[in-house]
Amino acid sequence: MPRKGGGPRQPLSQRRPGKAQKGLIPKGHAAPVVRGAKLAPKIPTKGKSAPRRIAAADLPRHAAELYRRLAALYPDAHCELDYASPYQLLVATILSAQCTDKRVNMTTPALFARYPDARALARADQAALEELVKSTGFFRMKAKNLIAMAKDVVAKDNGEVPASMEALHALAGVGRKTANVVLGNAFNINEGVVVDTHVGRLAVRLGLTRETDPHKVEAALMPLFPRDTWTMLSHLLIWHGRRVCDAKKPRCAECTLSDICPSAQLKS
Ligand code: SF4
Repeated sequence: MPRKGGGPRQPLSQRRPGKAQKGLIPKGHAAPVVRGAKLAPKIPTKGKSAPRRIAAADLPRHAAELYRRLAALYPDAHCELDYASPYQLLVATILSAQCTDKRVNMTTPALFARYPDARALARADQAALEELVKSTGFFRMKAKNLIAMAKDVVAKDNGEVPASMEALHALAGVGRKTANVVLGNAFNINEGVVVDTHVGRLAVRLGLTRETDPHKVEAALMPLFPRDTWTMLSHLLIWHGRRVCDAKKPRCAECTLSDICPSAQLKS
């Protein structure tokens, strides 16, 4: 039975230290583009309305304090997608593009009942799968991607979702962000930082980077935080983005970071 928000609840151990260089993301690990998806609200990174710059020498201490406070505020931060296996998390993460975790969690029980593993999903009828995932949006493309991904898992990995960035990224429709979610939460491997719309927005608002491209944001965050906190870091930023640092109406007055956030008192 899937656990609610199935992932580990504490900072993850490093099962496999790996050897990714700090700040470097391998070329070609781009996330899949959802055609027609709305862009995230633009955060000014230049001019008067851009967050105050934090001196490079002060960034590590600033980052450590941000992490300390967010970890104290959200000790139970975790992936809010429901899953009981790497396969289920991979499917749920693909469905979560441009969709809320809550909606995905309402969709996946029926999908997992009908297609309990990659072999079953690889044989799925596209129209039947589209019907099941319709409410998550972009359902034709998602159904197509899910079947292609499952066929790849069967053909390349004997039906088991692989536990490496390289192998995950070789699967149809799986980009670096999706692979990071699966590695960090289903396998306890901190290979990178998941940069979704919340992480990207908060990284800029908190003065951690002025980059807006997700891969550049990830490359900026990785050297600022210990590797064994990368998965939890994204949970903390996502939780804070969802609960306090809203895209349109950040609640700076009640934010635990307001005295150290260079964007405190944002109007929008
Ligand atoms: S102080 Fe405002 S802008 Fe800064 S993190 Fe908190 S809610 Fe977001």
